[in-house]
Parts: sequence; C-alpha cells; structure tokens
Amino acid sequence: MKNGFKYCPHCGKHQNSCRHLVPFECIYCGFTFYQNAAAAVAGIIQFNDKILFTRREKTPGKGMLDLPGGFVDHSEPLEAALTREVREELGLNIVSWSYLSSGVNDYLYKDVLYHTCDAVFTTTLTSAPKIQKEDAEISDIVWIDKNNVPFDEIAFDSLREALRLYLNEFS
Ligand SMILES: [Zn+2]
Repeated sequence: MKNGFKYCPHCGKHQNSCRHLVPFECIYCGFTFYQNAAAAVAGIIQFNDKILFTRREKTPGKGMLDLPGGFVDHSEPLEAALTREVREELGLNIVSWSYLSSGVNDYLYKDVLYHTCDAVFTTTLTSAPKIQKEDAEISDIVWIDKNNVPFDEIAFDSLREALRLYLNEFS
C-alpha cells in the first residue's frame, strides 16, 4: 500500500491500481480516507560531551543509528509521547524537553508507506543515567562524542538534519 488501498475499506471493491489519490477516494462509492502525516518524536539526550544513540533492531534502517523516540499515540501530546518512548526504550524518566526542530521521512514498514513528521526535542542530563534497554526494538545503546557523530550511519534524514542543527547552533 504505497498510496491508498487495494480494496475499498467501505464497499470492498478492488481499486484500479493506476489511480492513487491522496487522500484515497474509492472510484465506486466515493469513500474518502485522509492519509495525513504520522506524528513522531525523537530526543537528543546529551550527557557531558556525548549524545545517546540507539542502534535499530528492526527495519527500516536495521543496524543503523537512531535517536530514542517513536510514533505519537492518539490523544497524546508530543512531549508525553517522547517521555513514554524514552521510558519504554531506555528505562529513563525524562520529563523536561526543549523543542529543537521538525523534519519529514518516508517510513516503509510491512508494505505500508508512512509519511512521518518528526518533532525533535533535546535535553541535557546532569548525572549519568542508568539505562535499561528494551531488546525488541533496540540492539544497542551508543554514546557518541558530539564532535564525532557519524552522520552517514544515521537511519533517517530528519534526524540527521536535526543533529546537524543542534551541533552547529546549540552546543
Ligand atoms: Zn468503495
């Protein structure tokens, strides 16, 4: 499902594969479905001169570097989503975030193409965190010196851009 549905979710009729509309609109019954951007969040967590990265256990970007974060749930503010994701992924309780920037990605997962809008936040820790990694989504935790960030190993364009902005202007 790159753009739309193979079968209409309302009347069930097969859709002409040549016609991909955004929003999806059934050519038979007129059923319309808006495929808006999927909201996602990521956190740049700094301690001393290092930034916390995760290594992705899953596709897309398996084995590449990522920032902690994920998709925003229904009825969930961005900051709360990031706090929840960081608690789930790292076992850390971080509630104070500063907004940095946003960027977009195409995120293909199990044949569904999501167009994400990623909001990136930052926080600076004052003591060394005790991390408890979540194994299903993260293969490793890596602290990387802010002067040696390997930008070509980062999984997503939006996060690469946010890190460049952060390192150039805010640290
Ligand atoms: Zn229909």
